[in-house]
Formats: sequence, C-alpha cells, structure tokens
Amino acid sequence: MEKLIYEKSRAGRRAEILPKPQVPVKELSSFIPAKFLREKPPALPEVGELDAVRHFVRLSHLNHCIDTGFYPLGSCTMKYNPKVNDAMAALEGFRDLHPHQPQDQIQGALELLYNLERSISAVVGLPHVTLQPAAGAHGEMTGLLLIKAYFEAKGETKRKKVIVPDTAHGTNPATAALIGFDVVEIKSNDRGLVDLDALKKVLGPDTAAIMLTNPNTLGLFEEDIMEVQRLVHEAGGLLYYDGANLNAIMGIVRPGDMGFDVCHLNLHKTFSTPHGGGGPGGCAVACRDLLEPFLPKPVIKKEANGFKWDFDRPQSIGKVKGFYGNFGILVRAYAYILAHGGNGLHQVSKDAILNANYLKVKLSRNFVVAHSQPCMHEFVLSGVKQKERGVATLNLAKRLLDYGVHAPTVYFPLVVPEAMMIEPTETENKETLDRFAEIMVTIDKEIDENKELVLSAPLKTPVGRLDEATAARKPNLRWTPSPQAV
Ligand SMILES: *Cc1c(COP(=O)(O)O)cnc(C)c1O
Repeated sequence: MEKLIYEKSRAGRRAEILPKPQVPVKELSSFIPAKFLREKPPALPEVGELDAVRHFVRLSHLNHCIDTGFYPLGSCTMKYNPKVNDAMAALEGFRDLHPHQPQDQIQGALELLYNLERSISAVVGLPHVTLQPAAGAHGEMTGLLLIKAYFEAKGETKRKKVIVPDTAHGTNPATAALIGFDVVEIKSNDRGLVDLDALKKVLGPDTAAIMLTNPNTLGLFEEDIMEVQRLVHEAGGLLYYDGANLNAIMGIVRPGDMGFDVCHLNLHKTFSTPHGGGGPGGCAVACRDLLEPFLPKPVIKKEANGFKWDFDRPQSIGKVKGFYGNFGILVRAYAYILAHGGNGLHQVSKDAILNANYLKVKLSRNFVVAHSQPCMHEFVLSGVKQKERGVATLNLAKRLLDYGVHAPTVYFPLVVPEAMMIEPTETENKETLDRFAEIMVTIDKEIDENKELVLSAPLKTPVGRLDEATAARKPNLRWTPSPQAV
C-alpha cells in the first residue's frame, strides 16, 4: 500500500510556491493573547505539493462515487449531478458573497432565491417556501415545528400524535420524537400501502399529523391518498409529505394536489446537488397559507424597489440555520431546474420510472420482487431465494462491490425480508442497467458454483468486511503522530 502522507514527511520540505506573507509575526501576537499562541509548530506532514495532491486524490478514490460507478442506492437518488451546476455556483458574483453584505448589494442572490422558491412552489403545488434547512431530516424538523406552532397558536395543545406508516424512512419517526410528538406506527396492507382501517383506528382529537411519502419507500404509489387526506383532515390533523425523493412525480402529480399541508424536498437527491459523504445538502420546505406565519425567518419579499429579507415575523419559529441556508447548493438546484424547465423535469420523472420498471422486470427472473404492481422510481427485491441457498442479502451486497457497483439499500424497508431497495435513477443509460442486471444474475449463479467466493466478498475493495457497528460508533478518524515526529 502507498505510504500515508504523514509517513512521507521530511523535515523542512514545503509545498508553498507563493511569497511569504508581509504581516510580521510580532504584529499577530499583539492582537492574539499569548496564551492562545503555539509554542511549537503543529505536527503537520512536511511534503511537497505533488505528494499532497497524490494523497488527497488517492483518498478520493477509496470511496465509491457516482462519478466513477453505478450507485443504485434506494431512497438516496444517487444520480448524475451535471457539472454545469458547479460552474454556476462558482461564478464570482455568487461565490464571493458575504452573508453580512447589505441587501442592496445582493439583489441578484435574493432574486435567485426568490425564483427558486417560486419554481419549487410550482413543482409541489404549495404556495410558500423556505430554503433554510440544510438537509432532508432538517426539513422534516422545520415542517413539524411549523405544525407544532400552528396547533399551539390555535390552543390545540392536545394534538401530540404523529402517525407514521411502517414503511417510513427512519428519519420520520426520529424527527417526530425529537420535536416532542408521540409516534404512532401503522401497518401497511399486503399491497404495501397504507391500511385505511388501521389509519381510522388511530385518528382522533390527539392527532397532530401523518407523515407520508408518496410513492412510499417500497416505490409504490399510495392510490388511496385522497381518502387518507380526507380522513386526516376530518380528524383535524395535518399531512406532512416527505418529498426527499421527488424524482418519481415531478410534472405528474403534486403534493399540494394530493392534500398535503407541508412538505420538504431534498435538493441533494432530486435536484442534483452533490451528496453522500455527509453533505453539504440543501432542502426546501413548502407549505399552505395556514402554516405560512410560522415559517423560519427571514423570508424573502419582492417589493417595488427590489428584494428584501423580512425579519418582522412575530409568529415565526425562528431561524433553523445560520444565515439563509446552504447558498451554493441552492444555486446548483436552481441551475438544474432552469436547465430542464418544466417539461424537462416531467421527462426526468418519466425516465426515472421507466428505468426502475425495466430493471425490476429484468431482475424478477432471478429474484423475488416484493410487490408485483408497477413501481415508481424504485423497487424492492427480496433475497429470500438466495438466503435459502446460504447467501444472505448482506453477502450479495458485498459481492456487488467487487464488480464496481455500489450495493442497493439493504434490509430496508423493514417490512420486506432480505430487502434490496434499488433506485437506478434516470441518468443511467440502458447499457448500464443491462450490465447491472447481468452482474446480479452472475452473482446468483456464483451462489451455486462458488458460494465461498460470495461469502468472503469483497475481495477488490481497499478494505474488506469491517466491524460496522464499531466503525460507526467509535470511528478512528485521526492519525496520531509517533513521538519522534512531534
Ligand atoms: C434521504 C431521505 C430522508 C433524509 O434526508 P437527509 O438529507 O439524509 O437528512 C428523508 N426521507 C426520505 C424518504 C429519504 O429518502
């Protein structure tokens, strides 16, 4: 293995090519109190620029990424992020803005945010939008805080329950609990959809909201959504739409038309801003008039003489993020929307649905399909036939890595045994989908011909089978210098 940058360190070696700064060190110490000044230089590796570049580029290759390979990770929409979005975000006029700049100097940025809000409002069919949250779960938090503030303002403080179907993304119940709601889970019916009888049983004067995603995490469209919304509204509750993955419905149907009162959209995922590896993300929360007074402040106003931030919002839940959201991500999302236009976004959804159904049918010859009806942008397979032959879904997922493909989301949704949730996205071509199907079938054959191989995979990745629980709970992310290096 290539030596780590720290091990390549040689005393006195430097990467700088620029002249030394003109600020004398003495001056620095006159405004930084002595107790904060280092006595010794930090133990940083001393290397040339080329070694530094190799180090970071090599690290970047240790991870699978969408720019190097297929990434059908269900519910994550790992689609191609057009590079033109990055170029737009890097325009000086956007990149070099300071959040404390006076409003008359940032009219272009405010106009972009305003137009992005209006575009998103058109896509989801809800009139008001905030772009402050930093990611999906943060948007859920914002949306539920709006609901909470709304019921508090009405004096309906007994509405404590948030209903969540058993197929929900894990962040839904987690967010509801974090905000102080009691989470009530309802079972899906045998078609993988919300069971109306189960819903009726839990609805009542203590219902605050139901959180749904449609299509749900099985990739299935909730056909009874209009009945669901009628029942929830009749009970005095509100409907929260988890629009993290809007890929399937853009230009086809809108959360507002399905009766939802508030929704969040992951701008990473559907609107093609980069994600994975922890962000930064971006999120829009849209709502109906009744929740508007509570939106995070400030909100953008368009006035006769330009755009302005309105901080005068007495009922606002306050800020949910420093300044105004992840601005660079918002520029990327807007570039994506403009590049496609309304018809283009509609085409995106049709292609996402087509790709998922194509792959689902191809794979159904060798794998059990959890639900037979046509899917939306993703579908769920069950690895039960493979498990019977001694290879669990986890092993299959690991073996995929050896073929240069990222594994699907596994063991989720929880309602499907040995689940593999596959979301090919619309940006993959037919050859890639065919190749993936071929790899899956090859692995299925390997189970009979060379089971040990599948059970010991991955063999070609930088690291093999990690102790995942320890890696997640006690990650060792820090290189510690040996005493001689200090
Ligand atoms: C990804 C996702 C979320 C959470 O989004 P983050 O940006 O990861 O916080 C919530 N719900 C669904 C359905 C998702 O797919």
